[in-house]
Amino acid sequence: MTLIACPIFVSDVAEVEDALERAKHAAAAGARLVEWRVDALVGQAGATEAIGGLLAATPMPCILTCRPSWEGGTFEGDDEDRIEMLEAVIASGAPPKYVDLELRLHQERPELSRRVIDAIDRANGDEGVDVGLILSAHDFDRRPIDLIQKIEAMTTEPACSIIKVAWFARSLRDNMEAFAVLRERSKPTIALCMGELGVMSRVLAPKFGGFLTFASLSRGGETAAGQPTIADLLGLYHFDSIGPATEVYGVIGWPVGHSLSPKIHNVGFEAVGHDGVYLPLPVPPEYEHFQATVGALLDDEALNFCGASVTIPHKEHLLQFAMERGGAIEPLALGIGAGNTLTLLADGVLEASNTDCAAAIKALCARMDIDFGDLAAKTIAILGAGGVARGIVAGLAQLGANITIFNRTRERAETLVHAFKEIAPIAIGEPEQLGVERFDVYINCTPLGMAGTEFADASPLPDGAPLDGAVVMDTVYNPVETPLLRQAEAEGAKTLDGLAMFVRQAGTQFKHWTGQALPVDVMDVAKKD
Ligand code: NAP
Repeated sequence: MTLIACPIFVSDVAEVEDALERAKHAAAAGARLVEWRVDALVGQAGATEAIGGLLAATPMPCILTCRPSWEGGTFEGDDEDRIEMLEAVIASGAPPKYVDLELRLHQERPELSRRVIDAIDRANGDEGVDVGLILSAHDFDRRPIDLIQKIEAMTTEPACSIIKVAWFARSLRDNMEAFAVLRERSKPTIALCMGELGVMSRVLAPKFGGFLTFASLSRGGETAAGQPTIADLLGLYHFDSIGPATEVYGVIGWPVGHSLSPKIHNVGFEAVGHDGVYLPLPVPPEYEHFQATVGALLDDEALNFCGASVTIPHKEHLLQFAMERGGAIEPLALGIGAGNTLTLLADGVLEASNTDCAAAIKALCARMDIDFGDLAAKTIAILGAGGVARGIVAGLAQLGANITIFNRTRERAETLVHAFKEIAPIAIGEPEQLGVERFDVYINCTPLGMAGTEFADASPLPDGAPLDGAVVMDTVYNPVETPLLRQAEAEGAKTLDGLAMFVRQAGTQFKHWTGQALPVDVMDVAKKD
């Protein structure tokens, strides 16, 4: 079983009581280990006694770490001093369960490392005492070039009970290497990737038998970039249910931090009893990244990567990738020229499909209380000409709607018009038109208004656009109420938020992957976010 370890910094003698309280909360939240980080405490008057008190009262087994600044910690003092502190607390009546020591110290100052190992040996001679040594190596820039040699050195050191390697992930492929380290371990091992691209290694540690994963008590309390909270691990990712056979899914995009998809699909998987976990999978915008990363996810058999939602800016890349790999492309996705769903079929064939188009049109017709065929009589302004716009235009063109595209880059709008010219005539609008002409329906297919972007406060329509009596639909769903929808409501338009489409397209994806309907209360789950 992979343990959840909560790191807690104790920076001052006066903080001990508060730290113990936090550890109790962490234990109640589901942590099984606490890592006491005493980097800033060691060297202060009374530090060793305070650490002794901390260990004596610790509410769960603990790791004791005093990380020097040369390995990413904050301890600036002399290594002799921290070794002296470790010797003293290991010899006390309440030693820590584990002591963390850097491999670098072990190799460069073997006489200091020896003192810790000897102290552990002496303590373990006592009845009921079992202190273990974690040898650790961290790289805050990249995968260390000598990763294999480092692991070998820890493996062959008999005093090392647990191996720990952590490095900053530069690509999702780094996680795959951390999983290989775990799979090939010959003693208990922690292999984690730091940063936003390393979240996968932290969540999937139980799938590959990692000794532990670190998680913070609250958001903002992380001790390393990309560290999830205990609540996210257990509540969002259902960490306790992840095992070797768990299937892996995710949302591929750039950025993906604000996506609701992990919440929706993970809730859905649990509700229908599907052994799967759904993760944010950030992949930089260029096709080369998409190709290399998705290829690596699919090729790693032990990962059981079974499907993904594909979002901005990779929807067109998905089709190109599926073609290159000899995958199956759903005719609708091919017609649209963009896919949003990757599914690994039972026979191992990769399928690319598009669930955006039908979702948007169904949501729109439901809101307008009309049948699909009634769209032929409507004038529709499409704002944007990217992947989502393409999907929606494909559906609307088939239904004979009067479409006008407004896009920042004219060439892209022209490409879109050209793609569907056999099906229906589509106009390209000028920006000024939006200030004077009234359309029956407006659909925002740009990211304007999306939380976490530099245009979170922007609307794709000019102030004073004549919206009275129109229907304004936003495909942006985070936030649910966007600046565009506020503007539309103020101008007397009927609005439709992006969640309505989002939940429908997610439901079809869920069906592709599990064969089951997405449980209906999932919309409430999303709205609570
Ligand atoms: P995409 O392929 O990258 O296209 C983005 C479009 O937005 C392009 O037309 C682009 O114009 C335009 N754009 C980007 N930044 C802009 C800016 N600052 N000002 C004006 N126009 C800008 O993206 P996509 O996959 O179509 O996704 C678009 C949006 O749809 C996303 O923001 C997402 O929130 C939403 N979405 C919603 C759902 C749902 O289920 N509700 C599903 C998928 C996506 P240029 O051509 O000039 O670059």
